[in-house]
Amino acid sequence: MKKHKFGFVRSALLIGAAGFGLSGGPMASAHQAPPAGGKVDAVKPRAGANPAPARQPGEGAGPFRKMVIRGVTLIDGSGAPPRGPVDIVIENNVIADILPAGTPGLAMKQGREPRDFDYELDATGMYVTPGFVDMHVHGASDDKAPDMSYSYKLWLAHGVTTVRGVDLAPLEISLSERARSARNEIVAPRIFAYQRPGQGKGWTGGRTNTPEKARAWVQWAAKQGIDGIKLIDNEDQPPEVIEAIIDEAKKQKLGTVAHLSQIGVGRMNALQAGEAGLGTVTHFYGHFESMLKNGQVQNWRHDYNYADEQDRFGDVANLYEESVAEGSPEWWAYLEKQKENHVTFDPTMTIYAAGRDLMHARNADWHDKYTMPQLWGFYQSSRENHGSYFYDWTVGTEIKWRNFYHKFMRLLNDYKNIGGRVTTGSDSGFIFEPYGFGYVQELEMLQEAGFNPSQVLMSATLNGALTLYEPKGQPVPPIGTVRVGKLADLVIVKENPLQNFKTLYGTGALRLNEQTQKLERVGGVSYTVKDGIVYDAKKLLSDVAEMVKAEKRRMGMPEEGLPHP
Ligand SMILES: [Zn+2]
Repeated sequence: MKKHKFGFVRSALLIGAAGFGLSGGPMASAHQAPPAGGKVDAVKPRAGANPAPARQPGEGAGPFRKMVIRGVTLIDGSGAPPRGPVDIVIENNVIADILPAGTPGLAMKQGREPRDFDYELDATGMYVTPGFVDMHVHGASDDKAPDMSYSYKLWLAHGVTTVRGVDLAPLEISLSERARSARNEIVAPRIFAYQRPGQGKGWTGGRTNTPEKARAWVQWAAKQGIDGIKLIDNEDQPPEVIEAIIDEAKKQKLGTVAHLSQIGVGRMNALQAGEAGLGTVTHFYGHFESMLKNGQVQNWRHDYNYADEQDRFGDVANLYEESVAEGSPEWWAYLEKQKENHVTFDPTMTIYAAGRDLMHARNADWHDKYTMPQLWGFYQSSRENHGSYFYDWTVGTEIKWRNFYHKFMRLLNDYKNIGGRVTTGSDSGFIFEPYGFGYVQELEMLQEAGFNPSQVLMSATLNGALTLYEPKGQPVPPIGTVRVGKLADLVIVKENPLQNFKTLYGTGALRLNEQTQKLERVGGVSYTVKDGIVYDAKKLLSDVAEMVKAEKRRMGMPEEGLPHP
């Protein structure tokens, strides 16, 4: 999502209206009390991204001189089939060895080497995958949660060990959080900092709305140490500016990812951005605009208003009818061209999934326990909060969205099938999609698109890793697969994720126990290993549940549940 409705920095904060007003209690944010009337219209930058508190003793174990994870089935992320049982040996934060632990169908060997370990994790019968890579995130800002650790812990609890912030937070905070995470001083995934042109307190060059100024900013930001650039083709980023940014980014070994919004897509669609050398197209924007049947500009309704978010999001789905047929020669030509230009597709289907079935999204299993009250408030239909655009969402609109998604999914699957790269990103924190949970939903939706479960897992691991490290001149990424020599970022789960990705949700999946004839929740990640540190994923979730309760108490709300209209 882009948080700036009109292209300038703006983040509306709405308190005490739709969501909270219904609970009847007066609400206050951590930073300001609501005035009479209960509604605050604070216009402020996203500076509320509060850094995570320092990692406390007991928050994660390790890294260890030598750790052995025993008796697992390995799904290594490379597309190789599951194999096991194996023991995984980790030295500090590097996978040092993967050893056979026995033969399927027979009892595992006892007393297996190595014995000189500092830490042994008995994961007999569990599954191990590479840590997941979320390619599109924003850290929680203070209109969503008290601090960024809310999003960090939800990511880690769902196996996400690496995130690409686009942006995670303002430039300085992104960089300091990245460094703190790299030193394991905070409980957080590995962070990649993609920032927006013009960001940075030390940048004195003003608006980056000409090729020269944009290039100067890219050079400046590269010196600050960012990993890449998030483009939005707003009024300050016409085609010549985007082209300059992409060109300069390549010279500086920075990655690029673009949200090709309706504002600029009429002059630069995904095909044209790919020709200019763009790294990743995120969301669906730009793809179908590259394949319109009647020229490059969508047929806006005469009363369409981009600043009205229901127009903006509702009418996206019209592209379903305005673009060329699935599987037509133009369709394949588009995909072939994108592949030739090495463009990565990062669809973030999950973040707009509510458009297909709003009631499902509102009533998802996780909200009551894990959704921060201010985030819940942010989601509620509002003319001001970004992405809360369900003013009068109808059967007709949902059908339009289902049709549009069907076509979008076909596009992604076809791209995968010709060898194009598709990654997994969530963009959580908007539209009823909390951090972590939204990521798992994206895995579900990739499978729905036609990816087989092994392909989904590759998209979630290796494909993300490749996309993050290639711009740095590292075609062989240190993460993304479970192989000797790679960094120890792992997900350890009781249930086989390939059998049902729903088992990765922190709230698990429901399954009837045939012995007791009772429904049980199975799954949830057991352990997430980041940089050789073992996190108990259930403990991370209970930390989050506790944070949520504490916020509700502070805001004078009941600890259980959330206000529903
Ligand atoms: Zn976003």
